Amino acid sequence: APILIWLRRDLRLADHPALAAAAAEGPVVLAFCLDEQGGRPFGGASRWWLHQSLAQLGGVTLALGRSEQEIPRLALACGARAVYWNQSADPVLRTVEDRVQAALTVPCRIFPGDTLFAPGSVRSKSGGQFQVFTAFWRAALALPPPARPLPAPAALHVAPCPGLELNALGLMPKLEWWRSMASAWRPGEAGATTLLGAFLDGPVQAYHRQRDRPDHDATSRLSPHLAFGEISPRQIWHAAQAVPPDDGVRTFLKELGWREFSRHLLANHPTLPQVPLRREFAAFPWRDDPAALRQWQMGRTGYPIVDAGMRQLWATGWMHNRVRMVVASFLIKDLLIPWQAGEEWFWDTLVDADSASNAASWQWVAGSGADAAPFFRIFNPVTQGEKFDPDGSYVRNWVPELAHLSTAVIHQPWKLGRVPGYPPPMIDHAAARTRALAAFKGLRGAP
Ligand code: FAD
Repeated sequence: APILIWLRRDLRLADHPALAAAAAEGPVVLAFCLDEQGGRPFGGASRWWLHQSLAQLGGVTLALGRSEQEIPRLALACGARAVYWNQSADPVLRTVEDRVQAALTVPCRIFPGDTLFAPGSVRSKSGGQFQVFTAFWRAALALPPPARPLPAPAALHVAPCPGLELNALGLMPKLEWWRSMASAWRPGEAGATTLLGAFLDGPVQAYHRQRDRPDHDATSRLSPHLAFGEISPRQIWHAAQAVPPDDGVRTFLKELGWREFSRHLLANHPTLPQVPLRREFAAFPWRDDPAALRQWQMGRTGYPIVDAGMRQLWATGWMHNRVRMVVASFLIKDLLIPWQAGEEWFWDTLVDADSASNAASWQWVAGSGADAAPFFRIFNPVTQGEKFDPDGSYVRNWVPELAHLSTAVIHQPWKLGRVPGYPPPMIDHAAARTRALAAFKGLRGAP
């Protein structure tokens, strides 16, 4: 009888602890269920990615279901003698695991999930959890290094199992907005491995100097592959060890450290995607302004770097990290729109949408998170553009209405008066900054 593997955000065959253990024992059934009740449904861009990724997965037939409640049923239907899975770092999804476990009529085995260091294992000398990233990462690096990744099973005997057709999950959008995404990405394990190899072969060496430049192709773009577990952080970690350990490699691994830190935070704070970690932010005087939110979402704020980022996101499902910080600061601080609204938009439009990294990053920009940037650090969208996109090529690429402008004015097109087709700034940044600081002061004075 086969062992049923309950796949989740671990859509790969290599370094998959549950699959490796089961395949060593005999035939397996690979099962995936779309929703985990109580967990957050996938956003639109993620659904597109997920469809591609499931279609690719090792070229094997999957047993598909609509919700995790079908796992016990699928186990029965294919005569499985056990169910194995890798544990999620998200406490909400862990409660889903508990429910599945309770409903199973066959034994289960749960394996370590997709972090370099198990949540809870990185602790201060007094045994506490870290609230500051640098201390967290220093302590993590002092632990024994993550175990070497497991190879993909040498022989995989996949047993047949009834289930839905992939198309029946209805993941592909009706409108063909995904075409521009399809040309930007190659979802699946093979695409992830190729991308990692190409990155470690060259760009990683300049990563520490170039990673803040959205106009350069300087980062790995592994985030959606990591989000769907098409590659594991252990695989990345160990592949990076084979490269001479220079500042580029160290900085790159440190960014993986932020991913870890977010997961450890979420494990400790299950409401991280909704509730500010710093309680005083619950009383912040946010504005309810659906029209302004829409302008931001559509990349029509009148600030070129913000609009370029929002349009890159819309077209490709991804945005450069520096620009994510700039657009998030603009929404929260210039527009005083709650960070949760931005988090939700990112959740729907990012192909790398991830409840830990997304929530922790939004809270970081808002100043309400652990080790967050202080609220009074308000990005100036003009100087950010001039500094990180100095010749304007990122803006020209994503905002075609501005493509003809000279570098001198590309980040402040209003200097030319009205540019046809492009909106004037929706708000004066200097005035918005003063307003945000006043709101923040009031907050600190609040009881
Ligand atoms: P690289 O620079 O090549 O970094 C390698 C890997 O390290 C990334 O793939 C990612 O897994 C991890 N990483 C890098 N930076 C961070 C970070 N600041 N926090 C956590 N992990 C990081 N990342 C997501 O994966 N999912 C999200 O939903 C997400 N939402 C974000 C929202 C905001 C407002 C901000 C400011 C950042 C967000 N990030 C998120 C973090 C970061 O922007 C992306 O991980 C990064 O841009 C992905 O590109 P890359 O793979 O080329 O990164």
